[in-house]
Amino acid sequence: MARILILGAGISGHTAARCLGRWVGRQHQVIVVSPKPTWNWVPSNIWVAVGEMTESEVTYELAPIYKKVNVDFRQASALSIHPEGDAEHTKPFVRIEYTDPARVGEAESIAYDFLINATGPRLNFAATPGLGPETGHTVSVCTPPHALEANRRLQAAIAAMKNGVRQTLLIGTGHGMATCQGAAFEYICNVDHVLREAGVRQQARLIWLSNEYEVGDLGIGGVLITRGGYVTSGKVFVESLYLRTAVIWQFIRFWVIGYRVLKLMWKPHG
Ligand SMILES: Cc1cc2nc3c(=O)[nH]c(=O)nc-3n(C[C@H](O)[C@H](O)[C@H](O)COP(=O)(O)OP(=O)(O)OC[C@H]3O[C@@H](n4cnc5c(N)ncnc54)[C@H](O)[C@@H]3O)c2cc1C
Repeated sequence: MARILILGAGISGHTAARCLGRWVGRQHQVIVVSPKPTWNWVPSNIWVAVGEMTESEVTYELAPIYKKVNVDFRQASALSIHPEGDAEHTKPFVRIEYTDPARVGEAESIAYDFLINATGPRLNFAATPGLGPETGHTVSVCTPPHALEANRRLQAAIAAMKNGVRQTLLIGTGHGMATCQGAAFEYICNVDHVLREAGVRQQARLIWLSNEYEVGDLGIGGVLITRGGYVTSGKVFVESLYLRTAVIWQFIRFWVIGYRVLKLMWKPHG
């Protein structure tokens, strides 16, 4: 019997776990290690962040699902991977620490025959000074708690607009390595929609701030959209949409280049 260890129960890890559980779960052992008890359909967080979906609609408990498909679930974080074992372990192993309230803080080593590392991307707010909900000054739509807070702040802005106070909403992505423009683009469209529904769109200045090479790149080198027999580039599509919905767009790179040029110009001599 082989042991397959999966780190992370996001879109990749959970898909792997469900398939492997069904295919080989009776003959072999499939273990999933992930710190949260729930699964999250991440793309739908953009609906939570405008109040059109609830947290419970985009998450569900992992343990009952894994029980059905022969997967052993450990609510824990992987701390380190040891593919060559060590003095005490002849087999490769992963060191984990439980986040499960019943075993919180307890550490364990899990030996494996096959490893799937699906711990996903790390949210790197710190790469852009001032960005992020925990240590910065912005909201995020990346996790359900972030999205709930984003919606709370959006509703407060809508309430202010209903009282006649104009608001500027800046939506986009961070530093040059952030490639989540697709999600940010969907979110700005959702915000435009809920502002119109609330009858306050005229009170809002909506700005798209992006590190894209050009608008419509969406972090994936652009897209081609087929509609009514015509193929339109992402650039033309998004530009037309923003012109129609009165979204102003700005590129971070111009700001960064401009800032660097100014810094050079102002550099004191000697
Ligand atoms: C708001 C939003 C909307 C998006 N919309 C789209 C879309 O429409 N289409 C699209 O293709 N992509 C979209 N994306 C991107 C997509 O969600 C990600 O590419 C995808 O979630 C990556 O899947 P993953 O399984 O690799 O990582 P994740 O989904 O991030 O999962 C990683 C898992 O690993 C766990 N983990 C982390 N650290 C550890 C550790 N040390 N030990 C054990 N487990 C750990 C996490 O808790 C999580 O369960 C969107 C992203 C965002 C933020």
